[in-house]
Amino acid sequence: MKNTLSYAQKCDAEDPLAHFRQQFLVPTGTDGKSLIYLCGNSLGLQPRLTQEYLQQELNDWAKHGVEGHTDAENPWLPYHEFLTKNMAAIVGAKPNEVVIMNTLTTNLHLMMVSFYQPTKTKYKIVVESDAFPSDKYAMESQLKFHGFDSKDGLILWKPRKGEELCRFEDLEEIMKEQGDEIALLMIGSTNYYTGQHFPLKKITELGHKHGCKVGFDLAHGAGNIQPNLHETGPDFAVWCSYKYLNSGPGSLGGCFVHERHAKDDTLNRFAGWWGHNKATRFNMRHEFDALEGAEGWQLSNPPILSMAAIRASLDVFAEAGFNNLRNKSEKLTGYLEFLLDELNDDNINIITPRNKEARGCQLSIQLRNANKELHTKLTEAGVISDWREPDVIRVAPAPLYNSFEDVWEFVERLKKVLL
Ligand SMILES: *Cc1c(COP(=O)(O)O)cnc(C)c1O
Repeated sequence: MKNTLSYAQKCDAEDPLAHFRQQFLVPTGTDGKSLIYLCGNSLGLQPRLTQEYLQQELNDWAKHGVEGHTDAENPWLPYHEFLTKNMAAIVGAKPNEVVIMNTLTTNLHLMMVSFYQPTKTKYKIVVESDAFPSDKYAMESQLKFHGFDSKDGLILWKPRKGEELCRFEDLEEIMKEQGDEIALLMIGSTNYYTGQHFPLKKITELGHKHGCKVGFDLAHGAGNIQPNLHETGPDFAVWCSYKYLNSGPGSLGGCFVHERHAKDDTLNRFAGWWGHNKATRFNMRHEFDALEGAEGWQLSNPPILSMAAIRASLDVFAEAGFNNLRNKSEKLTGYLEFLLDELNDDNINIITPRNKEARGCQLSIQLRNANKELHTKLTEAGVISDWREPDVIRVAPAPLYNSFEDVWEFVERLKKVLL
């Protein structure tokens, strides 16, 4: 690897996925100042196809009114089913294990209604200490809902003193000591702050060995790293579609329920008509008869416009191929890492794991002795990245639309700001 613009451009010229950038609307900024967008971990960019797919549904709504449920080009009644195969491939699940519905935090609650079944003695939940706040609020409120103290009930899997990353051995230790009291392991598959990707299979096996249910939040994993959910074997997983999955702000989330629970009608669940047997759904008077698999957890008829955006994005993913994307992603992030190391600056510390298996495309860069002002300057220099207090910048070159030149240019601009 070389620290030159021409080297970065050569990598782009040799990149078999480079042309996918043209399929996206990449923000260019005002006054002709070029922007470097490295925030796909927060909001993925818009595929050009999205507008076309949305327009199709608007047209069909105009043309058919309510009859669009059956007569639209892509009938709305089974619309979510058009997404299942591609979404299942992205998370390595069987189609009947996946459904797109609601949003992430809502799905997390619905999954905990079913898979967090505490008893008086086995009621605790384990989560990584730097979990996303919404996930923690959901878990604490579930603990309270079941009459437990949320401080006592939530066990944090923490990095050791002076370290940034969580060690699997420490989770083993927690399980050894308190496994009898733990009902659920609920872990972010890829931590939003450090970018650390956890060993999902080992965590699942550990949890199950101690009689716990296991769930993952794939918000920073889906579309970034292949979690192979069916094989990995957690009881459930939830994710959103607006980060690496490029489906638009606040778009619907994904939900996975492992096949082993597909027909389990002993589980608690909060039900709604869309989870009911399709054959009798419109008879309206039947007792609730859950659909088999993840679809049985649906509540409402879904927003088709949001689904159309997801369908557009998934079509782009399917065309690119997930393995190709991951391959490029490792190179692109590896190049970013190389350039940051080349800066040879003691104040720069990459807290994301160095090991490729333990990270996705994001690098979390700690800038010691810096404050938010530095991020403001970086933004003024045309870099769209993300600042986390006290001193971390998160950048995530997304393999679908970011280039090696983007990465090179980012480090150049960072260098100028640091001077
Ligand atoms: C982005 C993100 C969320 C957001 O939740 P919504 O319900 O979609 O608003 C939740 N958890 C994690 C880990 C996230 O990264």
